[in-house]
Amino acid sequence: MKDDYTVDSTRLVAPDLAPADAEENNLRPKTLAEYIGQEKAKANLQIYLKAAQLRGEPMDHILLYGPPGLGKTTLAGIVAQEMGVQIRITSGPAIEKAGDLAALLTNLQEGDILFIDEIHRLSRQVEEVLYPALEDYALDIMIGKGPSAQSIRINLPRFTLVGATTRAGQLTGPLRDRFGVLLKLETYSPEELARIITRSAGILGVPTTPEGALEMARCSRGTPRVANRLLKRVRDFATVKGDGTIDEKAAKGALKQMEIDELGLDELDRGLLRAVIELYGGGPVGLDTLAAVLGEESVTLEDVCEPYLMQMGFLTRTPRGRCVTRLAYEHLHRAVPRHLMAEEEEGAQSEQQRMF
Ligand code: ADP
Repeated sequence: MKDDYTVDSTRLVAPDLAPADAEENNLRPKTLAEYIGQEKAKANLQIYLKAAQLRGEPMDHILLYGPPGLGKTTLAGIVAQEMGVQIRITSGPAIEKAGDLAALLTNLQEGDILFIDEIHRLSRQVEEVLYPALEDYALDIMIGKGPSAQSIRINLPRFTLVGATTRAGQLTGPLRDRFGVLLKLETYSPEELARIITRSAGILGVPTTPEGALEMARCSRGTPRVANRLLKRVRDFATVKGDGTIDEKAAKGALKQMEIDELGLDELDRGLLRAVIELYGGGPVGLDTLAAVLGEESVTLEDVCEPYLMQMGFLTRTPRGRCVTRLAYEHLHRAVPRHLMAEEEEGAQSEQQRMF
């Protein structure tokens, strides 16, 4: 029984970085002009960059937040490029001790950018060292132990921290307050993703028609990383089964073969919805139970499947557990249970009463 719901966890539509994305650097836009979409964040960033350049000062510290694969690392690289400075890339979990951070900071040059991915995962001790570095460009180091311990202060070059997080809510207040610029990245529209795919196809030398690009874009869950990954896999199908060109037919055929449906749901997403419907009558069911049934980690379901399923209106989180919606039944071509129809009718009636 369990095996019906268990699927391979190497997912094409997962937005997290995977070994298959090794070529990602070639596809990264290098300038703000090449960076597609995110118009609001881009417009603001352009002003801040210009102002810092006119003042001849480093940029204020920047916090980028939003789901994985939306272009946070790319944007940090662009800031470095536009400011004409170096970028050092690291991540929260990689900085284990205060000394690791001290080593990174003392190696920076004036104006450099330090990019810390997953900044919400910095340890408390490391965060404490970061505060004076961000505020006063200084490191306070304790020498010795016990009563004879002394604190000495080392001055650092003026640098810009670019922090990226998928979970802004998990950042401690004091750390969040030290960022002068907060930029939220939004998921991309299919049209923007089609432009990203067309650009990437140009770099990879894959002939792609606008209809083919849009077909892949619609299945990319609003995420450029997924879009680029689908492009590479669809290219394989087009090369082997067709003449190498990705048109609408080639894209549709390849996506079908990979079991990615027209909304970008893969077998794991559909398996989750099916499990809630078939085993738990549509819910509510606890996350851990679902994870056990699907043979997946709870965090994978929570961070990778659920955000998109909720965004699509297929799943809701209630205090008692996860429930699927009428839309999920319809998407899977299942009969909608009466209580979901009734809820919807009640909702529509009360809406009408409110209006008249
Ligand atoms: P994050 O750091 O948010 O996880 P990345 O910056 O690593 O995401 O982006 C993932 C990939 O998506 C990059 O290789 C890049 O090619 C592509 N990408 C992201 N944002 C854009 C964009 N706005 N325009 C074009 N390509 C993009």
